[in-house]
Amino acid sequence: MTNDVWARVLDALRSALGANNFSNWIEPLQFAELAGGVATFHVPTNFIGNYVSQNFGDQIIYHLNKHGNDVQRLKFSITPTLREAPKVAPRPAVRTPFGDDVTGAPLDVRFTFNNFVVGKPNELAHAAARRVAEGGPVTFNPLFLYGGVGLGKTHLMHAIAHELKLRSPELNVLYLSAEQFMYRFITALRERKMMDFKQLFRSVDVLMVDDVQFIGGKDSTQEEFFHTFNALVDCQKQIIISADRAPGEIKDLEERIKSRLQCGLVVDLHPTDYELRLGILQSKVDVYAAQYPDVKIASGVLEFLAHRISTNVRVLEGALTRLFAFASLVGREITLELTQDCLSDVLKASDRKVTVEEIQRKVSEHYNIRLSDMIGPKRVRNYARPRQIAMYLSKQMTKRSLPEIGRRFGGRDHTTVMHGVRRIEELKALDSQIADDLELLRRALEE
Ligand code: ADP
Ligand code: MG
Repeated sequence: MTNDVWARVLDALRSALGANNFSNWIEPLQFAELAGGVATFHVPTNFIGNYVSQNFGDQIIYHLNKHGNDVQRLKFSITPTLREAPKVAPRPAVRTPFGDDVTGAPLDVRFTFNNFVVGKPNELAHAAARRVAEGGPVTFNPLFLYGGVGLGKTHLMHAIAHELKLRSPELNVLYLSAEQFMYRFITALRERKMMDFKQLFRSVDVLMVDDVQFIGGKDSTQEEFFHTFNALVDCQKQIIISADRAPGEIKDLEERIKSRLQCGLVVDLHPTDYELRLGILQSKVDVYAAQYPDVKIASGVLEFLAHRISTNVRVLEGALTRLFAFASLVGREITLELTQDCLSDVLKASDRKVTVEEIQRKVSEHYNIRLSDMIGPKRVRNYARPRQIAMYLSKQMTKRSLPEIGRRFGGRDHTTVMHGVRRIEELKALDSQIADDLELLRRALEE
C-alpha cells in the first residue's frame, strides 16, 4: 500500500470516527507494512494498540479493503525507538536533572522522610511511599495518595523524589502539580510544541503529579494526561499521583481515567489524631529551639496545641512559628497564657470546625459506602440508614438549618431531613448498635 492510499484511508476514517477519536487514536498509528493480509502499525504504547484494535479494528479493515487492499487482520507493534528512548537515547534538550531544573516544580528540602512523623493516620501512605522510594521493579502503578488539605501529601511526594534521587541520581524524576501540567500542555498547544511536550513527559522515569483533582473538567488536558499516563505505564515507569479525594470522587473526571487511577495502589492519609499531632509538634519544636535559643517553652503547651488545633498540620506549624516569633520578640517564656493570647484567633477558629461534608465523609467511611451513594438518590436501607445518621449528626453538630442540610444531601427537602433526624432519635433509644455508632462517630468528628 502506498502512502497515498493510506492517506485516503485516513481521510475516510476521519469522517467515519469523528475528529476527536481520530486525533486520539488513529493519528498515533504509523503504518509499517502490509503482507499476507496483515496490516502492521507501529504504536507508541500497547494500550493504544489494544484500544484501537478493540474499538476501531473493524472500521480500519473495512476502509483498507474499500481502498483496494486485501486486509484480514491488523497487527500493532510498539515503536521500538519510542519504547527504548528513555534508556538509550541521549538526553534530549528538554531533559535536565531535577532539583534545579526548569521542567519540574522545585522540591522543598525540608520535605524528607526524616522529617515526616509517622502515626496511625498516615502509616499506610508512608509505607507505600517508602516502598516506591526504594525504586526497583515497579510493583504498583500508579501510587495514588489522597487526603484532606495539609495532611502531608506533598511532603510525601517530595520525600519520594529526594530519596529516589539519592539512591539513583541518573533517574529522571519529574514532579509537578496538575496545574503546571495543564499550563504546560496549553502552552505547548499554543506554541505548536506538542512533540516536545510529549517527548518530555514520555522520557521521564518517574512522574509525580500533585493535586490531580484540578484536571477534572479540563477535557483536552485530561485527554493528554491519559495518554501520558498510559505511555508511561506501558514502559513500566512509576507514576505517583495525589489528590484531595479518592479517584472515584473527583468531579468531572472521565471514567476511563478514574479506572486507570484505581489500577495501582490507592492509599489515603486520614485526618491527624492527637498522638500524631503531638509527635509532629515535638519534632518541630527541636527545630525552633535551635533557631530561637533564648525562648523557653513550658510543659503542657504542646499537648494543649495538639488537643485544640485539629484542622491540619499546616495550621499547627503556623501556630508554632507564631508562638516562637512572638515569645522571642517579647522576651517571655511560651506558657499556656501566652499561647492563648497569641493564638486566640486560631484557637477560636478550630473550636467548632465540623462541617456537614466532614460528617458525610466520616459516616460513609464508617459504614463503608461511597460518599456518592450517601448523597445520591438510592433509597435502599444500606444507604438510607447511614444517610439518616449523617443527617442527625449534621443537625446536632453544626449550625446548619434543616433546608441547608437537605441541600447538602443531594438537594433533599427539609422534611426528609426532619424525618431522618427523628428516625435516628427513635432508633438510638432502641438499638444499642446505633447508639454506639453515633457515639463513636461523634467522638471521631470532635477529635
Ligand atoms: P498536603 O499536600 O496534603 O496539603 P503538605 O504535604 O503540604 O500537605 O503538608 C503541610 C505541612 O505539614 C507541611 O509543612 C508538611 O511538612 C507538614 N506535615 C504534614 N504531615 C506531616 C507529618 N506527618 N510529619 C511532619 N510534617 C508534616
Ligand atoms: Mg499539597
